Amino acid sequence: MAKQDDQFKKVISHAKEYGYIFQSSEIYDGLSAVYDYAQNGVELKKNIRDYWWKAMVQMNENIVGIDAAILMHPTTWKASGHVDAFNDPLIDNKDSKKRYRADVLVEEYCAKIEAKIEKEVTKAAKRFGEAFNEKEFLATNGRVVGYQEKIDSILSRLARSLENEDLDDVKALIEELEIADPISGSKNWTDVKQFNLMFGTKLGASADTAMDLYLRPETAQGIFVNFLNVQKTGRMKIPFGIAQTGKAFRNEIVARQFIFRQREFEQMEMQFFVKPGTQKEWYEQWKESRLKWHLSLGMGAENYRFHDHEKLAHYADAAADIEFKFPFGFKELEGIHSRTDFDLSQHEKYSGKKLQYFDHESKESYVPYVVETSIGLDRMFLAVFSNSLVDETLEDGSERTVLRLPAVLAPTKAAVLPLVKKDGLPEIAREIIDDLKFDFNVIYDEKDAVGRRYRRQDAAGTPFCITVDHQTLEDQTVTIRHRDTMEQQRVKIEDVRGIINKEVDMRAWLMKM
Ligand code: ATP
Repeated sequence: MAKQDDQFKKVISHAKEYGYIFQSSEIYDGLSAVYDYAQNGVELKKNIRDYWWKAMVQMNENIVGIDAAILMHPTTWKASGHVDAFNDPLIDNKDSKKRYRADVLVEEYCAKIEAKIEKEVTKAAKRFGEAFNEKEFLATNGRVVGYQEKIDSILSRLARSLENEDLDDVKALIEELEIADPISGSKNWTDVKQFNLMFGTKLGASADTAMDLYLRPETAQGIFVNFLNVQKTGRMKIPFGIAQTGKAFRNEIVARQFIFRQREFEQMEMQFFVKPGTQKEWYEQWKESRLKWHLSLGMGAENYRFHDHEKLAHYADAAADIEFKFPFGFKELEGIHSRTDFDLSQHEKYSGKKLQYFDHESKESYVPYVVETSIGLDRMFLAVFSNSLVDETLEDGSERTVLRLPAVLAPTKAAVLPLVKKDGLPEIAREIIDDLKFDFNVIYDEKDAVGRRYRRQDAAGTPFCITVDHQTLEDQTVTIRHRDTMEQQRVKIEDVRGIINKEVDMRAWLMKM
């Protein structure tokens, strides 16, 4: 756990030091769980968004994009169920005055038991060596089975109480488990209350006529309410999808995992409209296709896993998360949900307008079913960034920190470095930049010895360094150094663009899907 914490702290400080992420309004001591993307962060974020957009919209003939407004008619959120049910169960500690999510307190309690299981596994693996069979051990070791039964019984009681809105039982569970405030150690708790996560705001100038609005808590509803507009004007035939990226806002109670859980964040969502009865196949297909998108970035298949939901939201008939191994363990990165006709039917009911599709072949009208893929752009950013940050010990015993971002996503593709600040080398470096800048983000760096400049670019995640030296004056060649292997090649200036392009071109990466 301590090692995980250290790695996570390193990720956060590196993100600041190298101009990726700053705390929002830092000079005023920040705003909790709100972050700003800095000069490199904004580029990485844009590249992730583009990579998603190309894979979803550009490469699928039957998927189109929209950009709906953040502010929507307030009835939208009544219809979607967010006004009545987008709640987290909240509990306060009377001594520390700290507020927690009651379900998270219970889940963290279970995570501690899970850590005990992991400890037993590690111990046994050491003891049995090669002959160790983890599956069998988990199923037969008395102590481990006992731990697992305890976890299962606690979590199923929690799920049942939340589903039945039995908040007294959630409190009783916390008391029975003797869960203490993680900060003060106090067990003096208030009752559990529901807390709505939507941010409210007002539209209009005068206090009496102003209309209560919400900042959207998800982008999906902007797609649902535009379903028929897009279908008609785009002459879309089912099955088809509508994609959107944009900001969403949630007044999260527990928000302390850096950009993993923010109050203002960005989603990349796609709603795929299908004929009722075919949703199961599409759900399976989108699960597979989204995992392939992740794997195409080469961040290690072992770092992803599916978590199929057993307890489903009332509108869903199947749901799964793609979980990623963040520095603090496997957590949800993306959700794939089979949402039935719930959303469109609700909007029909509340708006009084038909939201149906007329099938010219079967000559029938129906409300389509929806399979949704929903990923947090900021969570994807954290996945990419934390997975890429490594400390390496080199053959000569020296250390380097390198941000091995997938080259296609790197904010700056190359740094151009004159070996010395004289003899016409800076001028040639500038000429190279003037040519490359039409294709890539490139930067110029002449400060410090070239070895230090290489290290700086390694840590910033730049995949290539191009060095101009005295030989360049004679034969128009430069060295190009690869970030990950540190290999250097002597190449003609005119070949540099092609070499970079080969590694950063989205086409080549997307073809791996
Ligand atoms: P969680 O269980 O972690 O709160 P969720 O199940 O509420 O997430 P969804 O409503 O399915 O999440 O939202 C889809 C995606 O949006 C999530 O998979 C996640 O990547 C992202 N997301 C949700 N809430 C946040 C947040 N507060 N900050 C950053 N990203 C978020």
